[in-house]
Amino acid sequence: MLSPLAVSLFTFLLVCPSLSSLPQSPLPTPTPAPNDPPTICIVGSGIGGSSVAHFLRHYSSHPFYIRIFERNGIVGGRMATVNVSGQTFEAGASILHPKNFHALNYTKSLGLNIKKPSSSDSFSLGIWNGKNFVFKTLSFSSKLPFVDKIVSLANSVLMFLRYGFSLLRMESFIESTVDKFLKYYESSESRPVFETVDGMLKWAGLYNLTTRTLLEEMIDSGFSPLLIEELVTVITRINYGQSVSISGLAGAVSLAGSGGGLWAIEGGNWQMAAGLINRSDAALHLREEIESISYLGEYYELNSTVGNSYTCEVTVVATPMDELNIQFSPQISIPKRELQHTHATFVRGLLNPAYFGLNVVSEIPELVGTIEDSDLPFSSISVLRQHGEKDMTYKIFSRQPMADTLLDSIFSVRQETIRIDWGAYPHYSAPEVFAPFILDGRHLYYVNAFENAASTMETSAVAAENLARLILSRFFNLAPLISSNLSSNSGELLHVDL
Ligand SMILES: Cc1cc2nc3c(=O)[nH]c(=O)nc-3n(C[C@H](O)[C@H](O)[C@H](O)COP(=O)(O)OP(=O)(O)OC[C@H]3O[C@@H](n4cnc5c(N)ncnc54)[C@H](O)[C@@H]3O)c2cc1C
Repeated sequence: MLSPLAVSLFTFLLVCPSLSSLPQSPLPTPTPAPNDPPTICIVGSGIGGSSVAHFLRHYSSHPFYIRIFERNGIVGGRMATVNVSGQTFEAGASILHPKNFHALNYTKSLGLNIKKPSSSDSFSLGIWNGKNFVFKTLSFSSKLPFVDKIVSLANSVLMFLRYGFSLLRMESFIESTVDKFLKYYESSESRPVFETVDGMLKWAGLYNLTTRTLLEEMIDSGFSPLLIEELVTVITRINYGQSVSISGLAGAVSLAGSGGGLWAIEGGNWQMAAGLINRSDAALHLREEIESISYLGEYYELNSTVGNSYTCEVTVVATPMDELNIQFSPQISIPKRELQHTHATFVRGLLNPAYFGLNVVSEIPELVGTIEDSDLPFSSISVLRQHGEKDMTYKIFSRQPMADTLLDSIFSVRQETIRIDWGAYPHYSAPEVFAPFILDGRHLYYVNAFENAASTMETSAVAAENLARLILSRFFNLAPLISSNLSSNSGELLHVDL
């Protein structure tokens, strides 16, 4: 029961093939004739935007156009791959949970292949405090499955000896949160459509977890301080680049992403977005950044940086607005939120055992996690692929950029280095305050309001499904959609005008 947790932390950092793009599909531009079907415009082609397009078509045969705008030349957003020395790896969103049912459905219906983590149960984890490894699992690679099993069992015993019954408490904390989340897959005939994030979370019984930090939640539930300081911190630092001060819900989601049965899509997770957009008969405008959204009475006018202007009866913002400069007219107001920047550094080379006070590189665990200490220059280092005994590809997550001098002390060999600075996910705090799904009381919607609950591919898809139903019920009056009467208390504090 305990074994997958320790070893499958490693699988957060998977290996996947390369980036691609979709062809732009033509569709007649601006100003529709009076009786033309309405146009729904979506800003952003990540899993959120592509899922809105998918669910709009899924729930309605009503005629309407869909336009998707993407500032980059490729779709997928934070589902992206990176090429290191001719090999491709997931650069952003890497792993999916076995109960991520929308992603599973997309994968199946789009004919994509599931890729199980390449790690075996014998991959090792080490928890580094800057001076030494405070905890290390055993590592022994063997082609014999029974050897892996024995190593895995031994690692479970090691973990149990260090963290005790708190490990079981952690498993049940994760399970109970995942069970509540499963309510979002109940039949749409009996499941309400939600106008607010608060209402959506309250209905599933998840809201309270956003009002307290993970640390508070765990202390009150009797988790051992050592487990929180070490294992839990390692996981939140890997998955959200943050400490156990994140909300209990973001924390639980993060912990769920360290369990067994994790998976990814062969060839890259971005293919979900590509497939959904293709299938939704949407006009895709690549390399077209939306710079202003103006409400002009019956419709919104969207202006792009390439000088085009579009008329949309409904507009969906499917990207975090925190670091964007879209001009809204009239102005809209949402709670202030900061994004956590995660620096993903990819290195082809070899770690320097001396940096870790070790003699040989084989003593360094495949996944080096870290505790919370401001002097530590990285959150995690993991082996993505072993090309030879002295030739590996690694992924490093850090809160600050990794300078060359620092990398030169950590690595003895460095053939290639690639750095990506992600505006990765919200900087979580409790109690969370949520932006509205409906930004202007009319037909301007915001998928990423839900990201304050947790940021994952699946939570984006779940938020997008609700939003598509909200649009269909509010704009097209399509019944039967049960409206939630749960009220919102968000939006009072920390407002910022965009
Ligand atoms: C390093 C990292 C690791 C992660 N690991 C995982 C993981 O293992 N598992 C998991 O489930 N999740 C993971 N996540 C989180 C996950 O990537 C996100 O929650 C999810 O992909 C968000 O999707 P989205 O569609 O809401 O936003 P995005 O993917 O950010 O898509 C928004 C899109 O909008 C475009 N855009 C922005 N502004 C404009 C504009 N003005 N005009 C036109 N286009 C615009 C952007 O270019 C982008 O393509 C990770 C994220 C990061 C950064």
